[in-house]
Amino acid sequence: MNEIDELYQETILDHNRTPRNYGRLAEFNRRADGYNPLCGDRITVYAQVDGETLSAVGFESVGCAISKASASMMTEALKGKAISEVDQLFAIFHRLITTGEDGEELGKLAAFGGISSYPTRVKCASLAWHALQAAIHDQTERVTTE
Ligand code: ZN
Repeated sequence: MNEIDELYQETILDHNRTPRNYGRLAEFNRRADGYNPLCGDRITVYAQVDGETLSAVGFESVGCAISKASASMMTEALKGKAISEVDQLFAIFHRLITTGEDGEELGKLAAFGGISSYPTRVKCASLAWHALQAAIHDQTERVTTE
């Protein structure tokens, strides 16, 4: 498999073409911006946190297919989850994209397993996740992948 085949699997292409939960939420109490200077990806993540639950999450982004698809699939996977589960899935996803080690908790996110062979792409895939972490843990300054 060449890099393009491996990285741009159908699931990723689909989420890039038709991102889920795209756009500023009508109601949100957290937000954070993320920037990946290596690729030029920019993202804003909006989140509504009620108690210990991530009730809603949305995003706006400009960047490559990997960064947009990762954000889209992240919002699908994490919406409605407890913050503790969000943190846990972030750790599992981060392990997947840096080491290729799969976890059955990941579901469709396992499509990003091939990323681990391309270090510069890891930053594309993790950008939305870092921004969400910043948003829900109340750091409002811009995050970068550097
Ligand atoms: Zn990118």
